[in-house]
Amino acid sequence: MVAELSTQLVAQQQHAVKLLTSAKRICILTGAGISAESGIPTFRDKQTGLWENYRAEDLASPIAFDRDPKMVWSWYQWRRQLVQDKAPNPAHLALAQWQQSVKQSHQHITIITQNVDDLHEQAGAQVTHLHGHLWRNRCHQCDKPYKIEGINKENQYANDELITCPHCAGYIRPDIVWFGEALPVEAWQIAEQAAASCEVFMS
Ligand SMILES: [Zn+2]
Repeated sequence: MVAELSTQLVAQQQHAVKLLTSAKRICILTGAGISAESGIPTFRDKQTGLWENYRAEDLASPIAFDRDPKMVWSWYQWRRQLVQDKAPNPAHLALAQWQQSVKQSHQHITIITQNVDDLHEQAGAQVTHLHGHLWRNRCHQCDKPYKIEGINKENQYANDELITCPHCAGYIRPDIVWFGEALPVEAWQIAEQAAASCEVFMS
């Protein structure tokens, strides 16, 4: 493979290898592209089936949830069904192995993601989620985390009935950062610190 690359590309590749093996602090930001390889649809993909006439941007917002919580919840349960059997691809696995392998060395790798799936975790990586977690829920009103107990992943997401919070009777929503909402403070601070102090930033 290397033999097919131009001299200039080979030189750049060698420079990248040198940087990646010598840098003490490396920060990696991943987004929809890495999970698209595992078959997870991106927000830019056209929606299918029941949802083909809706735009993701019109459903993933607090305004949409206030207006029609059942519709937004159903849409997320559908998205969860779409992705529940998806597995990490070689890119997730490589990043996880790399992060693990440098644990006892001079290097430290921070992985930050804009993705809400758990494919980095499934691969064994430690990751900071800037946009929340598809598989977690919380109350839209009092913010308390809500865990759906006793059901396995497959049939849990076939049910799209709204759930109410046991503390305040507000509706349960996915623990995801929607359009118009602020990023979670702790995740943002980790990301900002890692980006500001790293010697190599990969995106
Ligand atoms: Zn509540």
